[in-house]
Order: sequence, then C-alpha cells, then structure tokens
Amino acid sequence: MNTELEAMGITEAVMNKAMAAMTADLKPLADRHGVSVMGLLDGWHDDISGAYFFGYTSAALAGKDGQELSQHAAVAVLYAFGQSTNPAVRAHARELRGELASKAYHLINDQARAAGSNPTFRALACSECHTAEYRDDLPADPNWDAPQARWRCKGCGHPFDVRDLELEVGEDWAIRDHVLGLIDQPEQEEEG
Ligand SMILES: [Zn+2]
Repeated sequence: MNTELEAMGITEAVMNKAMAAMTADLKPLADRHGVSVMGLLDGWHDDISGAYFFGYTSAALAGKDGQELSQHAAVAVLYAFGQSTNPAVRAHARELRGELASKAYHLINDQARAAGSNPTFRALACSECHTAEYRDDLPADPNWDAPQARWRCKGCGHPFDVRDLELEVGEDWAIRDHVLGLIDQPEQEEEG
C-alpha cells in the first residue's frame, strides 16, 4: 500500500469500499456495453476513469456508505466532468451524466431542503412539439443504445439529442420520476 495515500487516510479498507461501490454502480452500464467493469474503465479516457476513482474514493474517505456513498461520488464525478476542458471527455461524459445526475439529484435536493432552499425542477419541453416532456421509460427504439436516444418525447416520440442541451452556469441536469429536466444548483454555503 502506498504510504503517501495512507497518510491521507486512504487505507486499503477505504479503497476496497470505494471500489466495491463503484463496481456495483457501473455494472449495469458495463452490461449494456457487453464488457466487464474493468473493461469499461480501461476503454475510457484517463480523465473519465480518474474522475470515477476520485469521486468514489473521496466519498468513502468521508465515511459515506451505501446509497449515500454513491450519491456523493456522483456529485464529485459530475463536478470533475464539468471542470474538464478536454473535448473528448466532455463528449463522452454526456452519456455518463444521465446515470450520475439521477443519483446526484436526490442528494442535491435533500441538502438544499435541509439548508432551507428548495431547488426547482423544470422538465425540459420537447424541441419538436414544444409541449410534452422527455422520458427515459418509453419503449426502446432501434437507436436505444445511442446516448441521444435515451430519452424520447412522450407526446411525439422525438428522441432527445443531448448535444442540443446547453447548460447555463449553475444549472445541472436532473432526472425525476423518469422525466428529464434541469435544476438550479444551490449556492455553496460558506463554512463557519
Ligand atoms: Zn414532442
């Protein structure tokens, strides 16, 4: 074990907990791609797999467990993606954001409520019919595996193209009850 890591509190037990949670969370995605979790990670850019390792390790280091560990890791991974200036990472991360945003939303929502503010969830309206919402639980189409076909309009069936989504500063994706939308991220409170 690396003594430098141990000095930061990243013991073998912390690493094992982080890796177990990450492996469990990534298993469905790996299955969809027909590879192992390690195969999935190996196929990603180092900045992407690195964001995952960092996110899960930091959540385990903070003493989180179970669902809470996954939620904290998701927030950290989303943040790392958001900070990346690497176009390849930003493009690839769009597929992963949907998986992460669902976990992260509940945590951000709960924390904001506890802090006395109420983040607003706004469902995205379809860019074709301008009335209905995008959902991820509609019958699959032949392009289902393509990230841009993950969500479809409940009204007209138009597939949502994630490349069309431009986020403003302070906005983030959220998924609530299978509906794709946006939330305003609560401003960070100053400690003390
Ligand atoms: Zn529509």
